[in-house]
Amino acid sequence: MFEPNQFLSQCPADLRKNAATSMPLKGMTALEVGGPAALVCSVVNPEQARRFQDICNNLQAPSYILGAGSNILADDSGYPGVILHVATREIILKSDTLTVGAGLDFDQVIVESLKHGLTGLEFASGIPGTLGGALVGNAGCYGHEIGEFLVEAVILRKNGLLEKAYQRSEEAYQAISESQEKESTQINNRY
Ligand SMILES: Cc1cc2nc3c(=O)[nH]c(=O)nc-3n(C[C@H](O)[C@H](O)[C@H](O)COP(=O)(O)OP(=O)(O)OC[C@H]3O[C@@H](n4cnc5c(N)ncnc54)[C@H](O)[C@@H]3O)c2cc1C
Repeated sequence: MFEPNQFLSQCPADLRKNAATSMPLKGMTALEVGGPAALVCSVVNPEQARRFQDICNNLQAPSYILGAGSNILADDSGYPGVILHVATREIILKSDTLTVGAGLDFDQVIVESLKHGLTGLEFASGIPGTLGGALVGNAGCYGHEIGEFLVEAVILRKNGLLEKAYQRSEEAYQAISESQEKESTQINNRY
């Protein structure tokens, strides 16, 4: 059985300060339903996410990744494990490419792109959720999808390794998308 305090005792101070026990999922999902998660841990950079995964692996703790909860129907009985809340939100512009934390609001990515004169993503304006959630589902509408614009994604494997995955063809993107759902967390993405 998952013990939040045992998990917290293995967290370094910077991870522990962004963790909370018995957090109602209804406050973290668009449908505003869901009982308490035993533990919720927010990570703000790739290294924190890596350490989070190491602790999960050490303790064999059940875990689930949450973005903005726009595509989640949480159980009224809650979640008896640890929720990884991706809160990586940095934005770096280099030439005509944006590097963006997966926890940033997808709409915000579009706004920031336009501010820097980068166009193309406007079709997705209004799709709720984070960039990471959008990539996992290959969010799209009006005949376009986010995977068309991805240059590179940094993902965290279940084994705790951070690695880059590339998208330059639909086939490659699907591979990233499927692996995300099954065994990895997105941390940083370039457009
Ligand atoms: C009103 C409304 C309108 C919508 N319209 C559209 C639309 O037009 N087109 C469309 O495609 N979708 C649409 N959606 C669905 C939703 O907006 C997308 O699926 C969105 O991209 C989910 O992002 P999120 O951050 O909320 O992810 P969540 O709902 O938190 O998570 C969704 C899935 O992604 C996983 N996940 C989230 N972040 C990460 C990460 N960083 N790394 C790995 N896995 C992660 C979660 O584990 C979960 O499996 C709509 C939803 C609503 C409520």
